[in-house]
Amino acid sequence: MAELTPPPHFLRALVAADQARGAYGGRVVTRFPPEPNGYLHIGHAKSICLNFGLAAEFGGVCHLRYDDTNPETEREEYVAKILEYVRWLGFDPGKNIFFASDYFGKLYDYANYLIRHGRAYVCDLPDEEISRQRGSVSEPGTNSPYRERSVAENLDLFARMQAGEFPEGSRVLRAKIDMANPNFKMRDPLLYRIKFAHHYRTGDTWKVYPFYDFAHCLSDAIEKITHSICTLEFENNRELYDWILAACDIEDPPHQHEFARLNLTYTVMSKRRFLRLVNEGYVEGWDDPRMPTLAGLRRRGVTPEALRALADRVGVAKANSVVEVELFENLLRDDLNGRAPRGLAVLRPLPVTLTNWPADRVDRIEAPLFPADLGVPGSRTLSLGQKLFLDRSDFAEVPPKGWHRLAPGGEVRLRHGPVVRCDEVVKDAAGEVVELRCSADLATLDGRNPEGRKVRGVVHWVDAATAVPAELRLYERLVNVEKPTADDFLQELNPRSLEVVRGLVEPAVVAAGASAHWQFERLGYFFRDPAREGVAFNRTVTLREGWTAEEPPKAPSEAGSGKAAPTKPAAETAPVAPNAAKALDPEVAARRDALVAAYALPDAVARVIAAEAGTDALFRAAAVTGKPTSVAVFLANVVVGELRAAKADPAAVDGAALGRLVARVDDGTLGAAQARKVLSVLLTEGGDPDTIIAREGLAKVSDPAQIGAWADAVIARSPAEVARYQAGQKNLVGFFVGKVLAESGGRADAGATQRVVGQKLG
Ligand code: ATP
Ligand code: MG
Repeated sequence: MAELTPPPHFLRALVAADQARGAYGGRVVTRFPPEPNGYLHIGHAKSICLNFGLAAEFGGVCHLRYDDTNPETEREEYVAKILEYVRWLGFDPGKNIFFASDYFGKLYDYANYLIRHGRAYVCDLPDEEISRQRGSVSEPGTNSPYRERSVAENLDLFARMQAGEFPEGSRVLRAKIDMANPNFKMRDPLLYRIKFAHHYRTGDTWKVYPFYDFAHCLSDAIEKITHSICTLEFENNRELYDWILAACDIEDPPHQHEFARLNLTYTVMSKRRFLRLVNEGYVEGWDDPRMPTLAGLRRRGVTPEALRALADRVGVAKANSVVEVELFENLLRDDLNGRAPRGLAVLRPLPVTLTNWPADRVDRIEAPLFPADLGVPGSRTLSLGQKLFLDRSDFAEVPPKGWHRLAPGGEVRLRHGPVVRCDEVVKDAAGEVVELRCSADLATLDGRNPEGRKVRGVVHWVDAATAVPAELRLYERLVNVEKPTADDFLQELNPRSLEVVRGLVEPAVVAAGASAHWQFERLGYFFRDPAREGVAFNRTVTLREGWTAEEPPKAPSEAGSGKAAPTKPAAETAPVAPNAAKALDPEVAARRDALVAAYALPDAVARVIAAEAGTDALFRAAAVTGKPTSVAVFLANVVVGELRAAKADPAAVDGAALGRLVARVDDGTLGAAQARKVLSVLLTEGGDPDTIIAREGLAKVSDPAQIGAWADAVIARSPAEVARYQAGQKNLVGFFVGKVLAESGGRADAGATQRVVGQKLG
């Protein structure tokens, strides 16, 4: 990805102006101030990029400051993780790592400084009373009865608060500002409270703890921060920030500047809500790949580059807005496109046997790791043997209109491999497709595309002998609604946010090890999960927006969805046959039931035949002379379409002849392409299949002498390939077989051709 000049924004302009007029002696010091009470999220990434980015741009430094002034929620575990993720994002605070808790002593001194100057006082009112006396938008607040305590009394009381002499909540230290100030924050705000909690770094030393407003500005001052950048909700606090620094007589004080926080659609973004998701078991942990935490995103396969690109792209605004998560997904695709090598994986394996491929033949295919236009070098070797797997979603027994993938009698190209034709669909007793028997067109190996060969679909596949089982974890959005509501977000969780599929991947993908990015062709970008044992890949993002074509139709969602806790992986969804749920016309249903009962036909095939009385009758007539299941598949997948195209009446077709034609395919006399030729003659002129086969010379040829003659012609025309073959490029045998088959007009038997070519080439 090319480094773009970051777009201008108001903070950059402001820092530039400060530096130009010599403010802070030209120094630029920013800070990123996380509270170590949870893991960083994608919103923090924006703040990190902004603070570290500005410092780098202006020759300054950015501090990492743990804002750990609240003893109850902070933990060492989070401290380490925050630093790890700042570094992962590509930024290094170096030695500039600080803790606000290290300033507790200095902050206590500043509090006493304010008391001595009559700028702060100890107030004994209970919390509720303090709130009540604060007034409203239209009315000023009421002065506390303790406001005019003497400096001596205040110093004494504050010291005894720290000594632990008073119970928690009994007294607070307040700034003495103005109870009528239109800004509520300025109405004698609280600076310190009594707390007997144990702090993870300072232990039990402190009995009083500062509030954010007091601690933050002074921490900035202590570190000589110049630009204190925070999110918009602190806009009203700025006046107090400035007041405290002035009241403490800080020289050359830092200034606070606010920008809009990052919000994303379909994303919950707050540590408080993450805690609920984790603690109540809706996700597996802070680093669950569905979480928008940096830990979760990293495990999912999101890159620091994509996060930095997002920060640049959304820019820095003065008004809150919600960024569409699709913008981020597109930036992620842009980044992964150039870095994720391509591999082959199959989500739901469907066994395929190449019937014309010798059992012991294994071709090695050198396949590039990246598409040519990216210009990234590298390749891996794929094996292709007699048995392989396709994705179940790439096969349809009854293909819908416009189907480019595999169907009975149809062809597709295997990615980097040959064109294959589906000759036979094998099913189990339940009618489930358990295997496809296909023939490979050897003339199309090595990516060749002989003239006149039109194959629209390219499908992914894996070699059965070498593929590696893998857990493929497919993620959907964690919440179902664009803008999750603050308190009800648990009701809005997507119960299908995770689907675990046991699939197969090509071996090179596993050999690359953990934490590797891959693009599984047509399925999406995946990342080998470093935190999971065995071979598991998280889908980082699909290849295109809203891309679901690869996924089988999902079962209808269960009632009351949304409330279920998606802790457990959703059950593996079985593919559902297209149209399975459509109600049938009762007459059609009766015919379908009769066909299934009498011939044990699979439902999907029986439906097509039963759709009309004419095709039903044609099938019954043909099933007398041909094997019923073969007749049914040929009728449903080939004949029905031809009849429709020719607007022909099934009653005009000779059923017995059609049955004999199918028998010729079954007994090996005819190839599928030749069977179609015979059929077209049957439909237009009628006649007997055997006569047509003989007259047109369509029968398969197995005679070695005849095939040998075709082979000689091919070899004579291909001196260059012969030389390469003899020089050791043995996989060219596929090239020759394909050429010989073409020479024969498709009549040569593939197996016999293979043998003859092998002998001829020696
Ligand atoms: P959350 O509300 O998600 O728990 P927080 O603001 O409490 O976050 P802090 O640890 O206090 O988390 O935040 C550290 C810094 O990150 C602060 O400067 C804060 O303004 C900034 N920040 C937090 N969330 C976002 C966000 N969504 N977009 C940009 N900056 C953010
Ligand atoms: Mg916070």
